[in-house]
Amino acid sequence: MTENIERVMRTIEERREELVALTQELVRFPTTNPPGMAYRECAEAIGQRLKKRGFTIEYVRGEGAPGDNDRYPRINVVARREGSGAGPCVHFNGHIDVVETGRGWSVDPFAGLVRDGRIYGRGTCDMKAGIAASIVAVEALIDSGLPLPGALEISGTVDEESGGYGGVAYLAERGWFAPTRVQHVIIPEPLNVDRVCIGHRGVWWAELETKGRIAHGSMPFLGDSAIRHMGAVLERLEHEVLPKLSARTTSMPVVPPAARHSTLNINSVHGGQSEDFEGLPAPCVADSCRIVIDRRFLVEETLDGVKGEIRDVLERLVRERPGFAYSMRDLFKVLPVMADRNGPVVKATAAAVRAVLGRDAEIVCSPGTYDQKHIDRIGRLKDCIAYGPGILDLAHQPDEYVGIDDLVASAKVMARSAHQLLTRGA
Ligand SMILES: [Zn+2]
Repeated sequence: MTENIERVMRTIEERREELVALTQELVRFPTTNPPGMAYRECAEAIGQRLKKRGFTIEYVRGEGAPGDNDRYPRINVVARREGSGAGPCVHFNGHIDVVETGRGWSVDPFAGLVRDGRIYGRGTCDMKAGIAASIVAVEALIDSGLPLPGALEISGTVDEESGGYGGVAYLAERGWFAPTRVQHVIIPEPLNVDRVCIGHRGVWWAELETKGRIAHGSMPFLGDSAIRHMGAVLERLEHEVLPKLSARTTSMPVVPPAARHSTLNINSVHGGQSEDFEGLPAPCVADSCRIVIDRRFLVEETLDGVKGEIRDVLERLVRERPGFAYSMRDLFKVLPVMADRNGPVVKATAAAVRAVLGRDAEIVCSPGTYDQKHIDRIGRLKDCIAYGPGILDLAHQPDEYVGIDDLVASAKVMARSAHQLLTRGA
């Protein structure tokens, strides 16, 4: 048994070049989202490869999902290989979309350049290296001829970077992540090669607007400035809300540790005249000011509590500040999720990290969300983690890269973990 899995480890080591080449191949599809480019080509490359190992391939288009149209169809691929007996299904889910390249690159973001033991490119770290590692891990397991009683699934899904509605959410709503057909999920997001990520904080985005009355800017006393009202809101956020949030702690092992609290970011401020004109502005008192807030919350908090805290601040201003009027509008919300740290997928993956890297895995939560939310909340599948190569901090940055040693090590961890889960109780 031990000898057998060691043979799989050696096979993965021998396939180092192949793993690098597969990562490069995936990076060369410029799957930028928005708008959602080259999804079909990338999904088909994954499907065609896995078909050769006996997988049944299905392409599922996220019809009617945000951004889906004939020019940019939301094409997901789901590959399944039945097991030799009655065992659980282990599913690897990776998003194929990447964020825009942005400025500041010193290499071609879609070339997959290899230099000094790293592969560079948009999506190397987040998360095409992770997809490649899961594919090579699964192939090595299959080629070993070891009995694999449970089913293996690999999916390449779209739109994670824009909420996952045409991807994992779409599949989860249609039963693809029902606990009756899939039992364990590993999402190879870049959380670092020695960390097992069990969940993420919640999100509430909202737009707050203060209202005023327009008047001539030379006689502001005849109007009522929405910007000054917003100033009062910002002052309360700064001096009342933010200190309270940063004093709130959590049992969630969020990394980096500074994110182990509630946080609130003010994403934008818009007030007064818009800037879409040339020449000089006109003198007016602003009758509207809007901010967008990004509140990240903890498993110990409820969404109602989170919203209520902001509403309280605004209601108090209504009572205390003459003329103060506001509106509050939800833009986006995600509840926090956290898998059981003693669940099968966490234990199998942590044991695999120890066997491959010779050190204990760190159990963490992510500061931001990823597709686990849909698998947990829509699919009701709880035994789900993120584990993959790539350094979390490099995601979405210029000159993003993945270290080849980490890439190979993560493939070994995935193969070991999947093997243990597939043969559990066998
Ligand atoms: Zn990602």
